Amino acid sequence: RAARSGGDTVRAYLPTMGQVFLRRFQLVTQFRHALESGQVKVHYQPKVALPSRQVIGVEALVRWRHPEFGRLDPDEFVPAVEAAGLVDALTGFVMDQSLIRVRKWLDRGLRIAAAVNLSVRSLDDPHFPDRVAEALARHDVPPELLTLELTESGVMADPQRALPVLRRLHTLGVTLAVDDFGTGYSSLAYLRQLPVDEVKIDKSFVLGMGTDLGDLAVVRSIVELGHSLGLTVVAEGVEDDAARDQLASMGCDVAQGYLISRPLSESRLEAWLQARTTQARGLRDETVLTL
Ligand code: C2E
Ligand code: MG
Ligand code: MG
Ligand code: MG
Repeated sequence: RAARSGGDTVRAYLPTMGQVFLRRFQLVTQFRHALESGQVKVHYQPKVALPSRQVIGVEALVRWRHPEFGRLDPDEFVPAVEAAGLVDALTGFVMDQSLIRVRKWLDRGLRIAAAVNLSVRSLDDPHFPDRVAEALARHDVPPELLTLELTESGVMADPQRALPVLRRLHTLGVTLAVDDFGTGYSSLAYLRQLPVDEVKIDKSFVLGMGTDLGDLAVVRSIVELGHSLGLTVVAEGVEDDAARDQLASMGCDVAQGYLISRPLSESRLEAWLQARTTQARGLRDETVLTL
């Protein structure tokens, strides 16, 4: 219990199993209302090409401002939402918000892709590709400006089961990315059997590569093997110049991380892009350059 002493609230307890369960239950029962009432928002983190530093995309990352629990990160509620069978509503919401942004940028002459994180559960749903196609059509966005990210552990848990839906998504022309790569102990060679276009090196290796030779070796081999398989290689967790320069010299294609920007609310992202678009005035198609 939070004990009140004077004016200060002291949290001197660990939640019991019952409290954890109760909170999870509350999150799940409140989720739809949260989506509809604007508590759930999409933030966007820029992705830049290396070595040009041109902004080529953003990753959509969901946030929930809960009236009682405060700001919740996805790791705190997405697993509960998935387990409760509500992830379709989340994915649909994030995809719609993202495609609205991409369409607005296109109208200004900017080609910036959006990456949406999927739950592996969506790959069990044979109608999922139809909903993606419908969303692209409704927002009038070409498929190459939508990336769908799946975690390595999710896809590799049962690749045969994921394959039919992955194939149909790929046929639509969207980009398929394997997220958090390197953590799931699967081999890159195995990826060859799946219709994926992009591999994202898990941030733990990128964060460690400046000080840990093992992490550096993992990053280097993912870049090399990824390229030999014809994949675009993205590094997440790029926090400093040294990491970015090292990744660029290895030939890593895309960087994402706090060095470039933290995930930003819609309005802050627009200001961030605006400030960088002015540098490229005069080009027929505007581009956004960073750093
Ligand atoms: P992810 O897809 O691997 O996203 C990258 C995470 O790394 C994000 O955490 C991001 O804020 C964080 N990050 C980015 N740059 C840096 C950096 O330079 N340093 C460090 N230390 N961290 C960085 P976030 O936003 O908390 O999201 C966590 C995970 O939640 C995501 O990992 C993704 O798997 C999941 N997620 C987020 N949004 C959605 C969603 O709409 N649907 C589903 N199904 N999952 C989502
Ligand atoms: Mg991701
Ligand atoms: Mg990741
Ligand atoms: Mg992650």
